[in-house]
Amino acid sequence: MTKIYDTVIIGSGPAGYTAAIYAARANLTTLVVQGRQYGGQLMITTDIENFPGFENGIAGPELMEVMEKQAKRFGAEMRPVDATKVDFSKRPFAVTLEDETEPVYGETIIIATGASALWLNLPNEQRLNGHGVSACATCDGAFFRNKEVAIVGGGDTAMEEAIFLTRFASHVTMVHRRDSFRASRIMQKRVSENSKISIRWNTVIEDVLGENKVEGLALRDISTDTVSNLSVDGLFIAIGHKPNTELFSEAIHLNEQGYIKHHQYTMTNIPGVFAAGDVVDHRYRQAITAAGSGCQAAIDAERWLESQRSE
Ligand code: FAD
Ligand code: NAP
Repeated sequence: MTKIYDTVIIGSGPAGYTAAIYAARANLTTLVVQGRQYGGQLMITTDIENFPGFENGIAGPELMEVMEKQAKRFGAEMRPVDATKVDFSKRPFAVTLEDETEPVYGETIIIATGASALWLNLPNEQRLNGHGVSACATCDGAFFRNKEVAIVGGGDTAMEEAIFLTRFASHVTMVHRRDSFRASRIMQKRVSENSKISIRWNTVIEDVLGENKVEGLALRDISTDTVSNLSVDGLFIAIGHKPNTELFSEAIHLNEQGYIKHHQYTMTNIPGVFAAGDVVDHRYRQAITAAGSGCQAAIDAERWLESQRSE
């Protein structure tokens, strides 16, 4: 007979695993559809220094491995595959997994599929990712004390991160492909008033230079079509994020930027379907906030299930 789980969690980053810890510990039968990128975004980084509880920091993959074990200890089941289709039109909800014909079923669903940073797709960008290339200044800025860094992008995130980086870096060069920023005026003003920031307008990055770590950037000024190298120790990419919501876009209400909208607490427009972590959070995008919202979603799912069963 087909097993129907009390909750099926889609995604295994800090939000998914925390939801699994709370749900399984509350005695809900719990399945985590971990995704191919099990463990989520922190699997591709080195040290996490701002997750509470680890005085000297912890490696991203190690943190995620411990979270997975903690969820398993309470009985959560794990499947390291992607969900390829969902049917939220009736309960129990159905989730189809890659390479499988028979779906898995959940009385509730917690979506925790995260968001992905957009990259420039330069030849050496991913090779040096984690070795000077980063898409998260809040996470990695502190590794660049007294070093020179560059940041690409002209939106509010780039402004905010450039200013944040000046706390650590000796100099920040902003590289922007046009001659004006799209960021809000107030953020632009703060950037222009910061003596540690300089701007390279009309400039695109053609590649990241360096053998084992970032040593510089190959730049092209598109207004004069001239090339030059910029010596830096780090490159921060701030050209936007994309929430992983394609799978749900027909059934679940999304905001203008494609993030899932909460309707009541962490519940989506579909009663019984909840969402947590970066897939709903355009603003904070931190491991601890994702974990916190995973906890909220599991508690909401448990209470909702209980209310249905007592009806
Ligand atoms: P994610 O971690 O993005 O996890 C999403 C999960 O969903 C993955 O397991 C993926 O496999 C799964 N998934 C996606 N689609 C599907 C599907 N169709 N089916 C099944 N599963 C699916 N934050 C900090 O607080 N401190 C740091 O130092 C820090 N460093 C970072 C360094 C880097 C390089 C990056 C990229 C991010 C960093 N962050 C850091 C941010 C942090 O990683 C995220 O805020 C956090 O991981 C978000 O958690 P999440 O659970 O919402 O999603
Ligand atoms: P964004 O507004 O979409 O800006 C992305 C920037 O990256 C743009 O300047 C864009 O250039 C540039 N870009 C995109 N693709 C590029 C490429 N391939 N090569 C080079 N540059 C590229 O994204 P965001 O800055 O992350 O902001 C998203 C939303 O969050 C915005 O609505 C923003 O206002 C909001 N936000 C607000 C705050 C705040 O209020 N404090 C902070 C952060 C974010 P072009 O300009 O040429 O298109």
